[in-house]
Amino acid sequence: MRLDVLLARAAKRLQASGSPSPRLDAEVLLCHVLEVDRTWLYTWGDREADSLSRARFDALIAARGQGAPVAYLTGEREFWGLSLRTHDATLIPRPDTESLVEAALARGDAEEGAFLDLGAGTGAIALAFASERPGWQVTGVDLSPQAVALARDNASRLGLSRVRFLESDWFASLEGERFALVVANPPYLADDDPHLAQGDVRFEPRSALVAGDDGLADLYALVHEARRHLLAGGWLLLEHGLEQGAAVRQAFEQAGYDQVATLQDLGARDRVSLGRWKA
Ligand code: GLN
Repeated sequence: MRLDVLLARAAKRLQASGSPSPRLDAEVLLCHVLEVDRTWLYTWGDREADSLSRARFDALIAARGQGAPVAYLTGEREFWGLSLRTHDATLIPRPDTESLVEAALARGDAEEGAFLDLGAGTGAIALAFASERPGWQVTGVDLSPQAVALARDNASRLGLSRVRFLESDWFASLEGERFALVVANPPYLADDDPHLAQGDVRFEPRSALVAGDDGLADLYALVHEARRHLLAGGWLLLEHGLEQGAAVRQAFEQAGYDQVATLQDLGARDRVSLGRWKA
């Protein structure tokens, strides 16, 4: 069967199973099987698929039809222009989180400094920051040993091995260390958030998504604990849910930070709150 026909059929099948982006999913999965890019696919759609590729593609389409995230099926996802390996032990990097990277870059424009990403997952934020700030000492920590192994693997593939990834329950392994910039995309969904039953999120680790206190528990803990790990004048930036801005700003203010603010993402939604530690 010709590649373009194979693609059209797969897209139709994914549409029927409710994928929000059936054509794109089919293209990305076929590119993955054939180890080509999408331009190649558009140019050579009249070629015939070999039977092995076809069988592998059919299996991926079937899994996608059951809802499996494309990023887990291909084992990769692009973030900040970096190609990252993914694993079902970590959250899939999201475009929304690029707002957090931008905000960190804007506050970390010195030549050097110490940067910390808590709950690093694939390493996306730490590696994006390191790719832009070669003079900085960048650390990423994660509670999950699989996440730490994955982040180290991503760092070495991207030639960013100077980024340090450690296993740590938030700040637990960082006793006595202080940073100019601390960022996190912690779990912040309430455990009854209807969003948890939809789309890719169903397949992601709950520990990376859900927090107590209506999703605010980890955000509050980080605002408190970061004070012992920020240099004077250092910034804490936290990604959070669209309706959590006011609560997170209040936590920052009560904890004694200044210049507290909430920033919006590309969709003009509250997404990141931050404060400067002055002590
Ligand atoms: N933004 C994610 C979502 O809505 C949640 C990520 C998180 O809890 N850190 O799926």
